[in-house]
Amino acid sequence: MSCVKTTCPYCGVGCGVLAQPDGTIKGDPDHPANLGRLCSKGSALGETIDLDGRLLAPQILGRDAGWNDALDLVAKKFSAAIREYGPDSVAFYVSGQLLTEDYYVANKLMKGYIGSANIDTNSRLCMASSVAGHKRAFGTDTVPGTYEDLEEADLIVLVGSNLAWCHPVLYQRISAAKAARPQMKVVNIDPRITATSDLADLHLQIKGDGDVALFNGLLTHLAATDQLNASYLDAHVNGFEAALQSAAKDDPVESGLTPDQIAAFYALWAGTEKTVTIYSQGVNQSLSGTDKVNAILNCHLATGRIGRPGMGPFSVTGQPNAMGGREVGGLANMLANHLDIENPDHRDAVQGVWNSPTICTKPGLKAVDLFKACADGTIKALWVMSTNPAVSLPDADGVAEAIKNVPFTVVTDIMAKTDTGDLADVLLPAAGWGEKNGTVTNSERRISRQRAFLPVPGAARPDWQIICDVAQRMGFDGFAYQSPAEIFDEYAATTALSQQFGKDLDLTEMQGADYENLRPAQWPVGKNARFFADGQFYHPDGKARMIAVSAPVLRTGKFHLNTGRNRDQWHTMTRTGKSQRLGAHLAEPYVEIHPEDAQAINVDTAELVTIIGPKGRGIFRALISEKVAQGTLFAPLHWTRQLSAAGVINSAVETGVDPVSGQPATKCAQVDIQKCEAAWYGFAVSAQPMQPSRPYHAIAKTSTGWQAECAGMKTPSDWEREARNITNTKTGSAAVMQDATTGDVRVAIIENDEIQALFFASTEPVIVARQHASTLIGSDVASLAALAGRTAADMPDPGATVCACFNVGVNTLRDAIGQGATSVAALGEATCAGTNCGSCKPELAALLAQFQIPVAAE
Ligand code: SF4
Repeated sequence: MSCVKTTCPYCGVGCGVLAQPDGTIKGDPDHPANLGRLCSKGSALGETIDLDGRLLAPQILGRDAGWNDALDLVAKKFSAAIREYGPDSVAFYVSGQLLTEDYYVANKLMKGYIGSANIDTNSRLCMASSVAGHKRAFGTDTVPGTYEDLEEADLIVLVGSNLAWCHPVLYQRISAAKAARPQMKVVNIDPRITATSDLADLHLQIKGDGDVALFNGLLTHLAATDQLNASYLDAHVNGFEAALQSAAKDDPVESGLTPDQIAAFYALWAGTEKTVTIYSQGVNQSLSGTDKVNAILNCHLATGRIGRPGMGPFSVTGQPNAMGGREVGGLANMLANHLDIENPDHRDAVQGVWNSPTICTKPGLKAVDLFKACADGTIKALWVMSTNPAVSLPDADGVAEAIKNVPFTVVTDIMAKTDTGDLADVLLPAAGWGEKNGTVTNSERRISRQRAFLPVPGAARPDWQIICDVAQRMGFDGFAYQSPAEIFDEYAATTALSQQFGKDLDLTEMQGADYENLRPAQWPVGKNARFFADGQFYHPDGKARMIAVSAPVLRTGKFHLNTGRNRDQWHTMTRTGKSQRLGAHLAEPYVEIHPEDAQAINVDTAELVTIIGPKGRGIFRALISEKVAQGTLFAPLHWTRQLSAAGVINSAVETGVDPVSGQPATKCAQVDIQKCEAAWYGFAVSAQPMQPSRPYHAIAKTSTGWQAECAGMKTPSDWEREARNITNTKTGSAAVMQDATTGDVRVAIIENDEIQALFFASTEPVIVARQHASTLIGSDVASLAALAGRTAADMPDPGATVCACFNVGVNTLRDAIGQGATSVAALGEATCAGTNCGSCKPELAALLAQFQIPVAAE
């Protein structure tokens, strides 16, 4: 079977993938981003391409409809709103999951034909502060460096970036470079100890939002110790004096670090010419996100450490095509081609190349404001494309209410049921990864083809085609494209405007290229891959600008909530949730809480807690850990209302945004936390899909069906009925055991001599070998043996999954360590763990450390 060269649809690393229709997935050894590597999510892509749960036909008000009826209705409703209330009464909320061609036509329709800039993207949640910081410093939104710089650096400084889990292949590249050159140093600056800390020579557990104080202190230190690059500053930079004056007012101790830690970091930074500072959401998702970016850029500009191999600031994007969206103007405050809405010459030029009837004249509503406008009735028609704002935006419950308030909402998605899709008047079925063609741009500006290797199922259509179909029905010409290749060609041609106005984007070399065989290409194509090598920037005088920034007053409050990603899940789990391997890593919504805080609220490990925000709350499993600092909490952002009862963490996150970028501050929300007094805790496995609808529940796929964690506030009077309801198993006979002393309950439901469901309940968090219990579904093990919940001698319980590729659990690894494995490599030899994608290597090292056996150098 032949392989198709395509690109991973998850993070901004943009790994090349070799894919086959049977779901065989391998890393592409020829792709410059990953050179054959994949992480656990990429490796499991083949398990996410089934049609289970797919939206395969348009729906109007929940009923299947034909494309003509659905498209006519969308066009009619949007046209009517524009006619009656004006262009700014409609809005698109799009996604970094869209391909560049989809993004291009959506932006063209809204800005050039409807005449509003009310198109914003979930990339606003990811890197808007980096965009704003780049524009302030460089005059354009330019990421200067390349991935090779990460390997060539002598010092990597990671700021607010859990690379090991969020950009695993970049972590692997740095890890390999450090193994080859042990003199390479890594500093990890993060309020939380993460899997990435494993690689760090120095972990700096900074206070949330302490970054500006730390980097302002670094600038002051560099000036005081005469370690600036005076000639570079003189020739290429403005704003130094003001930036230094502002920086000098800040005390780096305000960052929460000790003077010794600060001195060690400053000495390392000052003494290492080849320094790359990598930053991502921990910097961007903040009330002071843009200032943090500029505080970092200031230090690189003041030392001239930019535009040369092995040095520079490096913002890594969260999404696969956040960068492509930036190029084509997917943000509400940008025109296409890195041009500016506020500039009338830019507007005229874009309108000219589009030959469009109008052009927006002012920036549109950014994500948070866009949904506020939905809530207050300003938006009359809304189109959400390939994203799930009712989960992913702060004040998620308020956003869901806001969407309900819009008179007409369209959602394009691949899945029939999502939290946002449930609120739509019209659902439009999109082609998914593996079924559509286009391009994406990764964090180092490399454009790669995404190629179809599967047929488009049912009535689904690619996004670009759906958008163009609606545009044409609204009476607009300019959308008669026959293929994404045609759209790309037009887009590449329009980047000549960027050159005309002295901006950075240039794809003109790619115009007329052989789209089908397009190889990964970094822009500016055919020129130096590193920007600013010549010291020329994009402000009118050709100089960069250092920006005077001040450390914010750190927020006080009971607890600071930090949110982020798990290793094996992607965003709201509509795809990764399909893989039982990925679900086995961390199977329910949890919150990390420091032991002393847990003690203060009287919570033990695995009990439930309620996190209470200004407008909403959620219930989570307590994971007591010294990895979070006292007074701080961490919770993953992935769980939705489809998979949990109350696990949407953004329900508890407030809606504050960075004043420059409009990016929501989701890393340092103020919340309270309380013990959730459950009357009983339960765990169930079933051959049937479950939707327990209990005050706390979380479901996940297993190799034999489904599992559910659940809890209730009142003890049921009939445990068999409770077990049948939770496991969705109405038939078969039930064996019920209840311990008269402890009250523990165990129920097995058996039909045709096969176990259909098992249910365990207790007044304490349930202790049962979960992996083992799930393997019993469908087996003919005697019910009493199954109810014991223990593993037989010939069926050892592997424990919670650590290595998703080979399904190696913590118990297996502990046994291997006990039998003499003393290194990550030795664990790999003994169990295969870590020998495929390598994403679990930091956890393997942590297990070795936990069992007090030193990790041997590899
Ligand atoms: Fe996909 Fe993992 Fe590569 Fe990111 S690092 S692009 S998730 S394979």
